[in-house]
Amino acid sequence: MKIKIVSLVAIVLAIISGQVLASNSLSVIKGASTADRTPAWYSMEWATGSKHSPEFELLDTESALGRYAPMTKTITMKDLIKFHGHACDGLVQAAAALRVALTELYPAGIIDRTELRILSKNGPCFMDAAAYLTGGRINFGTLDVDNKLGASWVVQRISDGKAVKVSRRDGVFPKDLADLEKKVRAGKATPEEITITRDLAWDFSKDLLSHPLTDSFSVEELANFEFPKSEYARVGERGDILHKNDPY
Ligand SMILES: [Zn+2]
Repeated sequence: MKIKIVSLVAIVLAIISGQVLASNSLSVIKGASTADRTPAWYSMEWATGSKHSPEFELLDTESALGRYAPMTKTITMKDLIKFHGHACDGLVQAAAALRVALTELYPAGIIDRTELRILSKNGPCFMDAAAYLTGGRINFGTLDVDNKLGASWVVQRISDGKAVKVSRRDGVFPKDLADLEKKVRAGKATPEEITITRDLAWDFSKDLLSHPLTDSFSVEELANFEFPKSEYARVGERGDILHKNDPY
């Protein structure tokens, strides 16, 4: 009864604000009020305040054995940074790229985090964004590594097989940052150069978010894409989406 009242209140509020949206066959209410865009010591103003800072309306289930939730939640760059641990150009690039890919898969705006799988290069920043934004996980065979991808990602919707590849355009990554990163990785940089690397990465990130994201990333559909079979020995089945379509 409590759930019914909550749902009813949410639906009435959504109708008043004109936010009832259709996703798949169910009516889902956009939960835009959940967005956290306030700057913090770890999340600079530009992360969520730039003109093209990516945001994501995500649909999940409402409990471990539950049905689809009646509302979405908004993920901002601040949420991504908090999950990942730091603001970095890798996270910003991955979020921007996945914004472009997910717009291709979900033009209506609501991303269904119960039916996606993703391939990414094995970097902490790229993989964290991939997992967080799609719900893909190594242990369920829905997140995997493909180091040949470089600065590209492949996202596939499991329900209908539609797959897209999103790639950073040539010339987008600054050469001075690439050179310095190489020096830092090789252990040959001074402390000052490590600070400059951080600052250049933030400048690049800020700049990336000041242009339309499609300026920096292109997306293409992959016909008949076959997601690689997981090589993880203890891969299991995700139980928290099995009853998503059960009736209320
Ligand atoms: Zn990072």
